[in-house]
Amino acid sequence: MPELPEVETVRRTLSKLVVGRTIRDVDVFLEKMIRNVDVDELKRRLEGRTIQKMDRYGKHLMFDFGAFVLMSHLRMEGKYFLRALDAPRDKHEHVIFYFTDGETLRYHDTRQFGTFDLIDKDDLPSNSPIAGLGPEPYSEDLTYRYLRDKLKHKTVAVKPALLDQSIIAGLGNIYVDEVLFRSRIHPETSCADLKPKDIKAIIHNSKVVIERAIELGGSSVRSYTASLGVTGRFQNELLVHTKVDEACPICQTTIIKTKVGGRGTYLCPRCQKKRRKRR
Ligand SMILES: [Zn+2]
Repeated sequence: MPELPEVETVRRTLSKLVVGRTIRDVDVFLEKMIRNVDVDELKRRLEGRTIQKMDRYGKHLMFDFGAFVLMSHLRMEGKYFLRALDAPRDKHEHVIFYFTDGETLRYHDTRQFGTFDLIDKDDLPSNSPIAGLGPEPYSEDLTYRYLRDKLKHKTVAVKPALLDQSIIAGLGNIYVDEVLFRSRIHPETSCADLKPKDIKAIIHNSKVVIERAIELGGSSVRSYTASLGVTGRFQNELLVHTKVDEACPICQTTIIKTKVGGRGTYLCPRCQKKRRKRR
């Protein structure tokens, strides 16, 4: 599944390719992907409009048309391709945007889980797919006080709490494993047992890991490759995720794979010792 760094890579790529282009027409071949308006309304509102900016919040891409945005969530396998007008339609291309200059932008999705929402800008904070999301890892709003207050009364394990998008937006499974390894915290540690230095380490390492991953274009673990030929190189810098049976880069202990909150989880049993629960 594409995570925040991969979606940011897609945003930057699309930004160079589609900003300033005007939509002549839109074809939707899988209507269920358009969630909050019907296809006729989508076409009516997009036709003749120019893409002013590409934005992103968490894993949500936003085509900015001024007064409103088209939000696009890639889910498992969504990708964008720029194609000539006469290029034959691939059966996995479910939405096609025709630009006035003759090229097309095609949304390709083999798993068909991707979604689109047309949202007025005034509704973004309160009534949209990003309403209620927490700050992004590198946001100034992700402060020690914020994260401490979010976690201090929680008795769930720290890993599922960090995957909870209402606490931090855009930290996915791969990155949470990397953040917890670098912070020397066992993923099953109860949030209520985290010490101030743990919370500070989580914030610091979330920024470091996500910024480095964005710099390298994300990671391509499993089948995901970012759209338009951009492939992430961050997988070459993963320290624990996918490294089962390899030596820990810090202490040489064998890295293990387990399940935490139903998610495949990689850790070093020596660097990330289980702690005795607080009474
Ligand atoms: Zn280790």
